[in-house]
Amino acid sequence: MEETPAYGAISEDVRHRIRVWTKCKVCGMDFWMLPKYNKCLSCALTVGSTFRDSKGKEHIKLGKDDPYYDMAISLGFMGDGWTSKSRYVMAQHLGRCLDPWEYVIHKDRDKDNYEIPNLVLRKRKPRHGDAWEGDDEVIAPVNKADARKLAIQQRIQEIIKRSRGEI
Ligand SMILES: [Zn+2]
Repeated sequence: MEETPAYGAISEDVRHRIRVWTKCKVCGMDFWMLPKYNKCLSCALTVGSTFRDSKGKEHIKLGKDDPYYDMAISLGFMGDGWTSKSRYVMAQHLGRCLDPWEYVIHKDRDKDNYEIPNLVLRKRKPRHGDAWEGDDEVIAPVNKADARKLAIQQRIQEIIKRSRGEI
């Protein structure tokens, strides 16, 4: 039988990555941890869990019953239901899911500053197609009532365009 390693013991995995024998901060299970993680895989994949990608951006795992689950994407072996925390905070602020062509920037470039005045919602130009009016327009964060009004106006515009056969 293999002996249990001591905490802090180091080994290499099959891909020669350094791992440390440690305790999962969430469930307390002992496991070989890659230094960039701080919890075991099963805890990392539970709803509400967050992880930081190689660019320092934080992502959050949403439950299927989350009102903003529709904008979540799949992250390979990490499974479905992930969105960046900045998108999630902005969606909660606006009270709607962000569209795929919308993105959020941190004004002060601090990826951990999720204060609403520091977040700006922008629209991305589509790579293909010519149905684009306006370019990279900055949508300033608005309050929920204004966001609802804006969403209704957009829906009305869409209905009008559809009735004219424009879309
Ligand atoms: Zn765990």
